[in-house]
Amino acid sequence: MDCRIETRCIHGQTDGSAEHPYGAISTPIYQTATFAHPGVGVSSGYDYVRESNPTRRELEETVRSLEGACDAVACSSGMAAQGLLMELFGEGDHILCSEDLYGGAVRMFETVCRKRGISVSYTDTTDAASTEQAVRENTRALYIETPSNPTMRVTDLRAMREIADRHGLLLIVDNTFLSPYFQNPLSLGADFVLHSGTKFLGGHNDTLAGFLCSRDPGWAEEIRALYKTIGCCLAPFDSFLILRGIKTLPVRMERQQENAQILARWLGEQERVEKVYYVGLPEHPGYEINQRQARGSGSMISFTVDSAETARRVLERVKIISYAESLGGVETLLTYPMLQTHADVAPEVRERLGITDRFLRLSVGIEHVDDLICDLGQALE
Ligand SMILES: *Cc1c(COP(=O)(O)O)cnc(C)c1O
Repeated sequence: MDCRIETRCIHGQTDGSAEHPYGAISTPIYQTATFAHPGVGVSSGYDYVRESNPTRRELEETVRSLEGACDAVACSSGMAAQGLLMELFGEGDHILCSEDLYGGAVRMFETVCRKRGISVSYTDTTDAASTEQAVRENTRALYIETPSNPTMRVTDLRAMREIADRHGLLLIVDNTFLSPYFQNPLSLGADFVLHSGTKFLGGHNDTLAGFLCSRDPGWAEEIRALYKTIGCCLAPFDSFLILRGIKTLPVRMERQQENAQILARWLGEQERVEKVYYVGLPEHPGYEINQRQARGSGSMISFTVDSAETARRVLERVKIISYAESLGGVETLLTYPMLQTHADVAPEVRERLGITDRFLRLSVGIEHVDDLICDLGQALE
């Protein structure tokens, strides 16, 4: 049956329930490291858990379906998924990236990748013409985050696909911020989609996970071989937690977005707030492109306040909201990118992007929006 996304989040591709032993409705946690063989050269379908596990397989099948991928591998974190993908590149290769990027991705490019002879450069991918000019002879891939972290810039993925086609590049998209509920980059021409499953997919700030989804069967096969070799796999229990999280992805995404819309407008009216970055505001520079390529605006808001003192005061005064790294969960979190997620980004780059000591990032949860307004209101006073 060709089910809608809400149904697939709960049942995967099938109606699910009949497949588990004893009719278990919830996917059992196959907490085992290995599987017995019924005979010589015969396999139950599972041999050793670094390669595959039934709980993880069900999760991978669900994410594969949500992203419309040919395969999805579940990794121990988002960074593990990015590290796995980087194994496709080597000495002499160049990767061209969005300049506003998750700080951990930048750290991987600048340390692990550079050491292996992979060069990386950053450009404003919201400008397709200048992005194309930045392509070099040895460029192998475009690496995009849209909306970007933390300044919510929107990159036109169809335009990136055209550039990738003209220059024979792979198109990689980190889809963490919108999740497959709101955006499917593979359907817009991406070759690979990355997720930090720790964020919206898991949704409860209780475990780490990552996904690498492939559009092409050839690449998918290569990724599977690397996955088994490197051992960056997700544990059975964590696979269960993410599967459980995904069941409520649609209702969480809707509620978080609803809260974010109200909060973004409210923040814009506050005296001490100078600028609000939210993709769902029609005055946001990326609003229209996002409308064309995604089904929603998500629930990530950044904003600048009038001084560094105000920023610090807000972080220390919030009560319901926590001052913590990470995003996407049911709890609303407030982050100070300059000191946390983007501490390793060069100061001049941070300055250019506007990630100053007055810049805060809010991941809006599913609490009652009036309580969130009340909390931020007293913190901003
Ligand atoms: C958190 C995050 C990552 C890294 O994922 P982990 O699960 O923390 O390893 C990558 N990209 C984005 C956009 C993120 O927010």
